[in-house]
Amino acid sequence: GNVADYLRDHIRTVPDWPQPGVMFRDITPLLHNPRTLRVLIDVFVHRYMEAKLDLVAGIDARGFILGAIVAYELNLGFVPIRKKGKLPYQTVTEEYELEYGSATVEIHADACKAGDRVLLIDDLIATGGTMMAGRRLLERLGAEVVEGAAIVDLPELGGSAQLLASGLPLFTVCRFD
Ligand code: 5GP
Repeated sequence: GNVADYLRDHIRTVPDWPQPGVMFRDITPLLHNPRTLRVLIDVFVHRYMEAKLDLVAGIDARGFILGAIVAYELNLGFVPIRKKGKLPYQTVTEEYELEYGSATVEIHADACKAGDRVLLIDDLIATGGTMMAGRRLLERLGAEVVEGAAIVDLPELGGSAQLLASGLPLFTVCRFD
């Protein structure tokens, strides 16, 4: 089969985690296998090698793993978008709604400058709330989010469609319906 199917076959589904009814898509087997890790990273590197990016931003915590390797391979710097309370310097903050309650993400206020072309990376898009919050942080700093990228899309949750409709270009390697 194709590269997307090959990589998808190395994602493990864990039923009822972290709560009953959830089918958690676990990417750790993809990272554990040296061949799938290399193929995965190469998919992103090839997609963005001519994109004239200035920075890669990764979302806490699995977006750090993917984003940092991709940034290194593209000879770019890496910016962490972290959960509330982890960044030591001056921050910009975005709160967003979850199914139950809310979450907050932060970025250092000097993490990028106006006009920077930034690639925003996470491991998975579900409702899209996390990616949207990350994008807003970057845009509040004046950056241009060139694309949002993730390994997995869960299209049934509607997040990717909403992000696209809001004008954010998106790239995902595979999907689970
Ligand atoms: P969203 O904000 O799009 O609803 O949720 C996406 C965020 O939650 C991502 O940061 C992702 O890491 C995490 N997430 C939610 N569901 C899953 C899942 O099934 N597998 C993985 N690996 N991450 C998930």
